[in-house]
Amino acid sequence: MYVAKRNKTGYEIYNPKYDEYSMGKLSLISDLRSAIAKNQLFMEYQPVIEINSGKVISAEALLRWNHPERGTVYPDDIIPVAEQTGLINPVTYWIIDTTAKYNKKLKSIGVNIKIAINLSVYNLQDHQFVEKIIDIFDENKISASEFIMEVTESVMMTNPQQSIEVLNRLHELGIEIAVDDFGTGYSSLAYLKLLPLSKLKIDKSFIMDMIDDDNDAMIVSSTIDLAHNLGMQVIAEGFEEKEILELLSILGCKLGQGYFISRPISDDNFEKWIVKQNKHIDNEYG
Ligand code: C2E
Ligand code: CA
Ligand code: CA
Repeated sequence: MYVAKRNKTGYEIYNPKYDEYSMGKLSLISDLRSAIAKNQLFMEYQPVIEINSGKVISAEALLRWNHPERGTVYPDDIIPVAEQTGLINPVTYWIIDTTAKYNKKLKSIGVNIKIAINLSVYNLQDHQFVEKIIDIFDENKISASEFIMEVTESVMMTNPQQSIEVLNRLHELGIEIAVDDFGTGYSSLAYLKLLPLSKLKIDKSFIMDMIDDDNDAMIVSSTIDLAHNLGMQVIAEGFEEKEILELLSILGCKLGQGYFISRPISDDNFEKWIVKQNKHIDNEYG
């Protein structure tokens, strides 16, 4: 009932994912409440590169939880719990603050890239969201334009009018907006045109099978053209092999993010990785 109310769908089919009373989830809920205070949350970073040059243009920040009994817990288990308990907003503020500090650290070692973070539907419904993040940027003396915010089609479509409003305000602050997991949701082209989107990320489900599945290759190719015609940059997500990267390049896709370049890695390792990557590019192209 609460899921239906929240999503304003009228009804929902039972899904254990949303059952906040299952045993495993109950303990995660109470643990998550104290996870921030206990310093158990951390971010990993995955680079987005220019396919032709290897140059890193941004990094996506991905949430992790170092749970004392369960080991590393991944966002597919953290985010639904955070969303159901109302912890998603404090957790997101923690993420923005943490990535703001990290972005400054990167700058201090000469690495100038934007950091991309993922937004939940509840962030867009939080009336204080925009004011709060302005405060966080001010406190950290960092410009909003150092950030990219990623929203999926389903996040945008939950309350389209509200999404347009909030995303426009974020865009006015200088934040870049990217549509995430594109191809898996139900947004209309007419609607996409109303949003201040500068990047489109093609969902990994299409990219992974591109070599073997002609339909997927066709979808990727058409999406690249569509996005370019709408004036957006395209990021291909989830390539694990060199062949896919080459095919993407042939299809005109300029940016990519995938295990073939790097898995998401901790902040220290990301700094080392990027310094090495920049040296490698200097040797090849400089
Ligand atoms: P996403 O936004 O689509 O993030 C990309 C996911 O794809 C990450 O999984 C990343 O590890 C994975 N990935 C990247 N390249 C490859 C590849 O080449 N092969 C394969 N198999 N996977 C690849 P992760 O970190 O488990 O995150 C899952 C989802 O959880 C994210 O999907 C995002 O929707 C959500 N998420 C992650 N961090 C946050 C966060 O801080 N806030 C919110 N609201 N959601 C988050
Ligand atoms: Ca994302
Ligand atoms: Ca994605």
